Amino acid sequence: MQQLQQTVEQYFLLAEQYFRQSFVRPEVVLSQRVSKVAGSANLSRWRLRFNAHFYTQYRQDFLQHTVPHEVAHLICHALYGRVNPHGKEWQTIMLKVFNRPAQTTHRYSLAKMPLKSFAYQCACQQHQLGVRRHNKVLKGTQYCCKQCRQVLVFSKTATP
Ligand SMILES: [Zn+2]
Ligand SMILES: [Zn+2]
Repeated sequence: MQQLQQTVEQYFLLAEQYFRQSFVRPEVVLSQRVSKVAGSANLSRWRLRFNAHFYTQYRQDFLQHTVPHEVAHLICHALYGRVNPHGKEWQTIMLKVFNRPAQTTHRYSLAKMPLKSFAYQCACQQHQLGVRRHNKVLKGTQYCCKQCRQVLVFSKTATP
C-alpha cells in the first residue's frame, strides 16, 4: 500500500511541476474485490480505487501503467472538467507529462489469480468463502458462523 501511495504521489508531483499548479490529493483505496477492472478514478469523490489482486500479482506493470492511467484521469478532470475520458487531453498527460504510453487496456488476467477462495474468521474456526460471497461481503453483506453465530471477518487474501 505504501509503495502504491508513493507512486500516486510521484505522478501528482510530475503533474504539478509540468502544469505549475497544485492538485488536491485523492483518497487511495486498494480493493479486495475480485474484478477485471484494474483501477478506477471516481471524479466526484476524488478517489482512486485499485485492484488489490492485480496490484499484488503484476506490481511493476501496475505501478508503471495502471497508476499513471488513473492519476491522469484526476489531473485531466481538475484541468479540463468533463472531457472524453481517454481523449486528447488525457493522452497528452500520459505521453508528455508522465512519459507513459496512453494505453487504455491491460493484459492482467483473472485466470492467473490463484484466489478461488477467501479465508474468513469467526470466533471458533476459519471459513472459506468463494468469490461471489466474498464480493458480497465487500458490498456490505454479512455472513455468520452457524456454530458460534459470530459475523465472519475477512482474514487474508489467498489460500492456494
Ligand atoms: Zn481510463
Ligand atoms: Zn464460529
